[in-house]
Amino acid sequence: MSEALTPIPVPEMTELSRPFWDALRQGTLTFQRCRACGHAWLPARSECPSCLGNAWQREASTGNARLVSWVVYHQPYHPAFKQRLPYTVAAVQLDEGPRMISNIVGAEAAPLQIDQRLRLRIENEGEISVPRFTPV
Ligand SMILES: [Zn+2]
Repeated sequence: MSEALTPIPVPEMTELSRPFWDALRQGTLTFQRCRACGHAWLPARSECPSCLGNAWQREASTGNARLVSWVVYHQPYHPAFKQRLPYTVAAVQLDEGPRMISNIVGAEAAPLQIDQRLRLRIENEGEISVPRFTPV
């Protein structure tokens, strides 16, 4: 494909989310882990979603994950995605625990399966880098 892709919308950056995006730009997917109960989560928030504790640390993911569920989009709900159809939106669980919404890429030839092993693939999208996953 020689035609340049329309850039996807840039997520709103907050003081809390910016380190996540900065780390991705450097090639690392990070998440937060509660210092009180050990729960790990995404996306960024100031309190632990499990115990509401506010003491946490950022950790780097290994990039290993499993497929929880997915849907294939055949309809563009934003102009930027028109050239990308069809594409896969998936719920992915990192081996460290956090679940996230992402895309599955590089799976065109093989059918997806629940619990399938996935590997992180960070892709540059204009001014941001986004975490996507590919089947192992
Ligand atoms: Zn907690």
